[in-house]
Amino acid sequence: MEKRVKIVLKSGKDISVRRLHPWIFSGAIKKVYGNPIEGEIVNVYDNKDEFLGQGHYNDGSIAIRLTDFEEVEINAKYWERKIEKAWNYRLKNGFSFEGETNVFRLIHGEGDNLPGLIIDYYNGVAVIQAHSIGMFKAQNEIVEALKKVLGSNLKSIYSKSKSTLPGNMQNISEDGLLFGSAGKNHFVLENGLKFFVDWEKGQKTGFFVDQRENRKLVGEMSRNRKVLNVFGYTGGFSVYAIKGEAELVHTVDSSAGAIELTDKNVEMNFSGDSRHKSFCVDAFEFLENMEEDYDIVILDPPAFAKHQNVLHNALQGYKRLNLKALQKMKSGSFLFTFSCSQVVTKENFRKSVFAAATQCGKTVRIMYQLSQPIDHPVNIFHPESEYLKGLVLYIE
Ligand code: SAH
Repeated sequence: MEKRVKIVLKSGKDISVRRLHPWIFSGAIKKVYGNPIEGEIVNVYDNKDEFLGQGHYNDGSIAIRLTDFEEVEINAKYWERKIEKAWNYRLKNGFSFEGETNVFRLIHGEGDNLPGLIIDYYNGVAVIQAHSIGMFKAQNEIVEALKKVLGSNLKSIYSKSKSTLPGNMQNISEDGLLFGSAGKNHFVLENGLKFFVDWEKGQKTGFFVDQRENRKLVGEMSRNRKVLNVFGYTGGFSVYAIKGEAELVHTVDSSAGAIELTDKNVEMNFSGDSRHKSFCVDAFEFLENMEEDYDIVILDPPAFAKHQNVLHNALQGYKRLNLKALQKMKSGSFLFTFSCSQVVTKENFRKSVFAAATQCGKTVRIMYQLSQPIDHPVNIFHPESEYLKGLVLYIE
């Protein structure tokens, strides 16, 4: 095995590692024996010299992301094993490369014991998004392992890490194809509905794979109802609502590109259907001037907080947004409201929505508490990986 830099933790800082939490903050480190470079694999010990785990070294506040709690060699077989495990889990849960759904998350970072790595599968194309230098530097090995595990079901691999790597390292990454020759654009099927995914210019890896089950629920509740999809992006919720025989569906997004995608996706599934209309406008402005008496309103905003230090503002943001919607919503209607901020807990989100309801004097019932689907598994030792939270409220 290659010689590795040894890092010793301060007394007591081994506790969370022993509970298999994969992050080590820089403040927990007592001594570094050597000069690790960004992304290098290092070995971590407690202050009595007992081995704890191995992981990718980083200069930031999360100094080490542990990939393993045993000492193992990182080679081609290692990556194959990890990716195979992730794929087997999905296979067991009914995912396949064909059929009604050919888009899913193959690797969900900590949830798949690969902190810092996201891979989404889009009908033959794997889009890799590294959030750590270590994962980015391992990209070539990951590519080879993906080809081995997915075989002929993999036509192309696209790298999209420029915007997700730490600021000082973004210049080492260029987005682009690593394998195969997928064209610029791509079509996927989700529960039999067709979507156009633009992984080159789109947000995240190109599509919000995590809302699949929640979109389905909207579809099931939409019959003969008027649906408003705020922060629509690709129009995912809207397409399901139309499929579910909604009376009318309106999509709101402040980005012209998002509205274009929505219109394209609606047209592709329901050509010429006049029940859908999209609005390229700020969400708050739209809600302020809202005239239609919608039966279902969906609020799926971008993460309001990316860091703990802006948590308070984020919670205020959720409160303001939900207040705006609730004030306008009629009695007997339903609100689907989401938060995808990792630092906002389920309880905090619920409190913000609760505060909004109290402020506008509306009584609401919680019908469903929603989360992320099974291809976004939560690492039980890393509660932060449960990032998507949703509530479905019935307004009395
Ligand atoms: N619901 C979507 C994902 C939403 S992503 C899905 O199922 O795929 C968040 C979206 O909010 C982005 O498309 C972004 O353009 C939009 N957005 C961000 N700020 C906004 C604002 N102030 N008003 C309206 N849309 C906004």
